[in-house]
Amino acid sequence: MLTLNYRYRIYPDATQEQALIEWMEICRSAYNYALREIKDWCDSRKCLIDRCSLEKEYILTADLKFPNEVYQLNNLPLAKKKFPKLSEVPSQVLQQAVKQLHRGWEYFQERGFGFPRFKKYGQFKSLLFPQFKKNPVTNFHIKLPKIGAIPINLHRPIPLGFVVKQVRIMRKADKWYASVNIQCDVSIPDLMPHGHPIGVDVGLSKFLATSDGVLVKPPKFFKSLQGKLKLLQRRLSRKQKRSKNYEKQRIKVARLHHTIDHTRKDFHFKQAHALCDAGDMVFMEDLDYRISAKGMLGKHMLDAAFGQFRTIVKYVCWKRGKICAEVDARGTSQECPECGAEVRKDLSIRIHNCPNCGFQTDRDIASGQVIRNRGIALISTAGLAGIESACADGLPGIEVTQSRPVSKPRKGKTRKTSK
Ligand SMILES: [Zn+2]
Repeated sequence: MLTLNYRYRIYPDATQEQALIEWMEICRSAYNYALREIKDWCDSRKCLIDRCSLEKEYILTADLKFPNEVYQLNNLPLAKKKFPKLSEVPSQVLQQAVKQLHRGWEYFQERGFGFPRFKKYGQFKSLLFPQFKKNPVTNFHIKLPKIGAIPINLHRPIPLGFVVKQVRIMRKADKWYASVNIQCDVSIPDLMPHGHPIGVDVGLSKFLATSDGVLVKPPKFFKSLQGKLKLLQRRLSRKQKRSKNYEKQRIKVARLHHTIDHTRKDFHFKQAHALCDAGDMVFMEDLDYRISAKGMLGKHMLDAAFGQFRTIVKYVCWKRGKICAEVDARGTSQECPECGAEVRKDLSIRIHNCPNCGFQTDRDIASGQVIRNRGIALISTAGLAGIESACADGLPGIEVTQSRPVSKPRKGKTRKTSK
């Protein structure tokens, strides 16, 4: 089974937009109501039985069961009789709001933190349509229950053999999107380790360095757009809250964030495809970048979004039938890739120069090579059973990208090989 998510821009007209916003509000109220039920139940069990609980706790009878998912879903039809507004939303969409709460609740139970919160106005940003009897997407429209056809920009067709399973309608920076979940009934073969290995080291001074000697300069999206963002945010801070002008300015800020986000993602995808063009196995460090984002260079770490890049690399590798694995990140920059000796160097030393065997190269390339060596060792010892790939013929994304050996930089020349 192969599942993909394609996102398309949709253009609802004024009445449709109004209806969608209203549905989100109704779903939000259902979500909050269900959460209140859970919270009341928890509060009533907090207090010891011989203490006074008149002050804080709600008293519910002791044999009252926890309001679980099934119970709350079964209560929805009853609630609809009391609050006719609830019936405006398609019933499955409303059910998804309650299900979403219980997914959050179960996740909280597993981890032990992250109690679900009430959603304020505007915090409920998407609607999930979980089921369709027939294909809702045509070339020009997407057809949703109770709302009719909404114009869609089908910038890439849904590939043959795929069936639309779910549709999520999202609102981002005043633009509407439909994330279409499609499935194809094919079996995916297990992938055996093969071909040319590449170790990838990411960092701030070079966005990435591979073991083959490719260096990519860091993109400075955020830096170049930061001045603009600062200006817009300052203007926003001077508007009166909840006023018309505040709302207009807020949308401007949100749009800029949206642009930065898309530019960065585009860059990440291009780099990931370039890596897959260059090799068959991609190894990266298993660092938790959230920790380094707390340091002095935090803003730049967040701007580069290495975590997102790793996720995208994994996805692209999976889609193109390449292997992607994470290796131990400890001391990758302090080791010689040729002889394995420890070569201490701090951040200011940019060149790796091994006193033991005389191997000399760029610092980041050296750590890329160390990562590659560790990756090969990882594969030969542990094996990579269970890694799946979709390398079948005629699937989306394969034929387009293979013709290009090196990713196109956005502006000017950023990719060069140093030897
Ligand atoms: Zn050496």
